[in-house]
Amino acid sequence: MEKLIPLVNRVQDALGRFEREEGISFPRLVVVGSQSSGKSSVLESLVGKDFLPRGSGIVTRRPLILQLEYSPRGSEIGVFSHKPNTQIRDFSEIRREIEAETERLVGRRCGISPEPIRLKITSPNVVDITLIDLPGMTKVPVGDQPHDISEQIRKMIIDYIKDKNSIILAISAANQDLANSDSLRIAHEVDPQGERTIGVITKIDIMDRGTDALSMLTGKLYPLALGYIGIICRSQEDINRQKLMHQHLEDEMNFFITHEKYKHIANKMGTKYLSITLNNLLKKHIIKSLPVFKKKINERLRNADNELKNYGIPIQGNRDFQGVVVLNIITAFSGAVSKTMEGRLASEQQCELNGGAQIRHMLFSIYAKELMNIDPFNAVSDQDIRTAILNSQGIRSNYLIPQDALEILIKIQINKLLQPSLKALETIADYMKSFIKDVTLPEYQVYPNLQNSILHIAQGVLESCNKPTNEFINEIIENELAFINLDHPKLLSVEEAYKRAEIEYKDLLRVRLENASNVKAGWFSRSNPVNKAPEIASERETKDMFFTRNIVISYFNIIRKNVGDYVIKAIMTLFVKKSIEKLQNELLTHLYLKDNFDEILYESPEIPQKRQALAELVTSLRKAAIILDEIRDMD
Ligand code: GDP
Ligand code: MG
Repeated sequence: MEKLIPLVNRVQDALGRFEREEGISFPRLVVVGSQSSGKSSVLESLVGKDFLPRGSGIVTRRPLILQLEYSPRGSEIGVFSHKPNTQIRDFSEIRREIEAETERLVGRRCGISPEPIRLKITSPNVVDITLIDLPGMTKVPVGDQPHDISEQIRKMIIDYIKDKNSIILAISAANQDLANSDSLRIAHEVDPQGERTIGVITKIDIMDRGTDALSMLTGKLYPLALGYIGIICRSQEDINRQKLMHQHLEDEMNFFITHEKYKHIANKMGTKYLSITLNNLLKKHIIKSLPVFKKKINERLRNADNELKNYGIPIQGNRDFQGVVVLNIITAFSGAVSKTMEGRLASEQQCELNGGAQIRHMLFSIYAKELMNIDPFNAVSDQDIRTAILNSQGIRSNYLIPQDALEILIKIQINKLLQPSLKALETIADYMKSFIKDVTLPEYQVYPNLQNSILHIAQGVLESCNKPTNEFINEIIENELAFINLDHPKLLSVEEAYKRAEIEYKDLLRVRLENASNVKAGWFSRSNPVNKAPEIASERETKDMFFTRNIVISYFNIIRKNVGDYVIKAIMTLFVKKSIEKLQNELLTHLYLKDNFDEILYESPEIPQKRQALAELVTSLRKAAIILDEIRDMD
């Protein structure tokens, strides 16, 4: 198997942990064949070690999943998954453990079980590959084997070889009729084109005298796309005499080279050649998988690279680097805030307004609508209006306005604009606060103190801008209260107000006539014991009332619109814009302090390890990408 090492190991070394985690799977070898055809022996020859139970009868009775793992350092170690804490260095002990573990589950006799034994061998002499040894196929149950034993074994084998990633070593013994070969038949079922089946003929050394395996080996008997390889494994006698593996490999080669019938094909025989063939198959498989590997690696590389960038470089104690990092963070944070506030960032969830758009929605849709919904005379009764008129000092004639009454009533209405306006400011302030909290910088996960510092400063900025805005809104209302401009050009004219009052009065009379019998509607019939005004209003009073109301509503409408405009502008400029403008400056003033750098840029203790691990991953992925390119170019 040494031939495999250079190529596969270079790829796998480079992929390292990544390959095992991401399941970029290399092919596995599965041996199939009848009982005692030499399956376990072939696997042993390939690994170059004595460690599998072999012999006559049904020896392999549970699948053995043998995971070879290359490790450049150290000696060869075997670990069973059922004994994860025991490292076995003596390979004959591995054989004894396989036997013991087989017996533990299926007893001493002939029972079998599909429950695999898993063995991992770590060694500098192997490649990362999985080899699977399976029980041999039988035809008749022996001893206390269940009657469907052959079917059970068949099913078990199919399960392992149907996977496209399995390379099938179909073993047939030369001293048996190939036409009856179970291995070829079962391999054909799952791999009819023979793309991943290699025929292996064993026991060529013990064929009947006068017979040879030539017609088998050349595929004349049973053609196979990838062909046949004849090999000779150690006989029972060799094993008993403890013949060494390398000695055996030499003898095997000599057998073919000197044999009258095989010497002309000797270069395509033997364990070594089987290794080379497998090597080529693996290589082909890897090359076929290159684009998939490449894609996975590039994807992973991009992610790891980005993640690594977030972790930055270690900067503790280096004032210059720290300064650069702090400046970058400040720029990034204020940039993120102002970008979103200007509504330039597309919202993640399309239906949810974000930043500036959300603020505009809050002001124009919610606040402006709330102002529009204020009913100027809600909570001021008709009687109140009448009383105000009666109390006013105005000289009343047809066209004279009861000025005092108007001003009092108008001021009551204007006052109603203050609370919604202040509330709008608070809503926006709350929104900005939570918005700023939601701005996440990748640096936050590296420097846990950073986020708190930034938030603290940003909150301070918001508060400092809130106060003057609040005062300004109060001033807007105070100004409106301080001077009621009844000469406002857009105000309903006196004539028009009276004209409307006349019409309203006529309407009232009509309604009153209609309801003559049960007069209960209308302000003029309402009694108010606290009020000094007479309970029944005269025509004059009623018309004055209507007139006054028309003027107040008209004036209120003008002021409501103005106040709404001013307040929105004040919130946008004095609060929102000002905060954003101030933010960067304040961050610079309070964060960019050399003496605080160590505190602000304190790294969580696990960060250096994460950074290191990521850096290693990036390096190994880069290496893997280069190697994959080399292999592709080589091909
Ligand atoms: P399995 O049941 O298919 O796993 O077969 P084993 O590997 O256990 O081999 C069965 C017996 O055949 C063992 O005693 C081996 O030593 C012997 N054997 C296997 N291959 C060869 C071979 O090529 N030549 C000789 N002479 N004996 C072999
Ligand atoms: Mg076996």
